[in-house]
Amino acid sequence: MAMENQNSGMQIFIVRYGEVALKGLNKPYFERMLVERMRKLLRRFGDVSVRRSDGLVFVYADNRHRSEDIIGEISKVFGVTSISPATEVESDMDAICSAASEYMLERMKRGDVKTFKVEAKRADKSFPVPSPDIARVVGAEVLKRCRELKVDVHDPDCRIYVNLRKGRSYIYEDKFPGFGGLPLGTNGKGLILLSGGIDSPVAAFMMAKRGMRIEAVHFHSYPYTSKRAQEKVEALAGLLAVYCGRFEMHMINLLPIQEQLVERCPEEEMTILLRRFMMKIAERLAARTGCAMLITGENLGQVASQTAEALTVTDEAAKIPVMRPLIALDKVDIIDKARDIGTYETSVLPYEDCCTVFLPKHPATKPKLADILASESRLDASSLIEAALDSAETVIIRPYNRSIEGDHGSSRDTMP
Ligand code: ATP
Ligand code: MG
Repeated sequence: MAMENQNSGMQIFIVRYGEVALKGLNKPYFERMLVERMRKLLRRFGDVSVRRSDGLVFVYADNRHRSEDIIGEISKVFGVTSISPATEVESDMDAICSAASEYMLERMKRGDVKTFKVEAKRADKSFPVPSPDIARVVGAEVLKRCRELKVDVHDPDCRIYVNLRKGRSYIYEDKFPGFGGLPLGTNGKGLILLSGGIDSPVAAFMMAKRGMRIEAVHFHSYPYTSKRAQEKVEALAGLLAVYCGRFEMHMINLLPIQEQLVERCPEEEMTILLRRFMMKIAERLAARTGCAMLITGENLGQVASQTAEALTVTDEAAKIPVMRPLIALDKVDIIDKARDIGTYETSVLPYEDCCTVFLPKHPATKPKLADILASESRLDASSLIEAALDSAETVIIRPYNRSIEGDHGSSRDTMP
């Protein structure tokens, strides 16, 4: 995969960004944010330079770094649509022909290539040779140097691209996909309600992909839920931070609220009442932390608390906007996404969640707001919320901040 700049011992990557380019007057701002984020993620390689030029970003890195590692890092930058390791040459037909032939000779050593095609794009319109002619001339030169190769314009084993630009041109083969989206930090900040499940990390990722910075809240029922369960959520959050950057996660104990609910409310309303408390506490936290909206992993019809009726009653609890990016996805698609972003394996580790503590046998699937409000009036709601907020512990989450392995014993090891 590695493509070298033959002159300087550097490797070069062309980075494309899709939607960012469409942003009209905001374009320079989005491009600046994109490059800034790339520089930040690539800093760990030390001597990497990131330059923007005419609708593309060019990354120059010393050859001693593995190109897979650099591509892996760039692909985590939201806004990036694809990445290609490239060879950089002078914009001169002889130089391009010779670099393309060298590339093909190397390429034939690496894999079984019998047919090829050259595609050319002339970004510099002042260059005297039009694109189809560039492709034809380069193709003919490659054929001359690599006698066993044949041209196949429909289904070639190897397709090489020539991007002819002012001064310098680029030859590349592979395109590695990025996630697309918009650069982080271009769309405010949201508070994700992060459980240890499959869904909420995916929901956070999807909003962050649209440029939103995130902060997180996790609810637990310690000591009914274990410290290990909290560590699992911290591990999950660390996987999100790989994309979203460092963020804060607030850990809040719901046990006092759950105990009062058990005492004073109908059992079948436990879940929905608890979910309303989560929303209210999260709303207060959002106000304190400058988050304009809440984000959840809720999904229509997935469980009793996510029927249309239950979601309506949950939604009424908070006044600020609640984003539910997974609302209409199928579970299989959410799982695919979780695998893709690397959170799935951690999400399925068997640790308990606060919602499973005091889980009603028959949760209300069609709750009525009036009944729920009546039940809430029997609770010391505002003092419970204040106490929960006062007990919040804040953890700083960094990329890969901790790992956690499956606990094959009881996941309820600290149950009192
Ligand atoms: P997930 O896979 O994200 O846990 P779920 O399918 O298990 O979701 P619920 O348990 O009903 O669904 O939770 C719905 C949403 O509520 C979650 O996606 C998450 O945003 C929020 N949530 C649930 N439990 C917690 C928790 N313990 N802490 C923070 N948020 C939570
Ligand atoms: Mg859950």
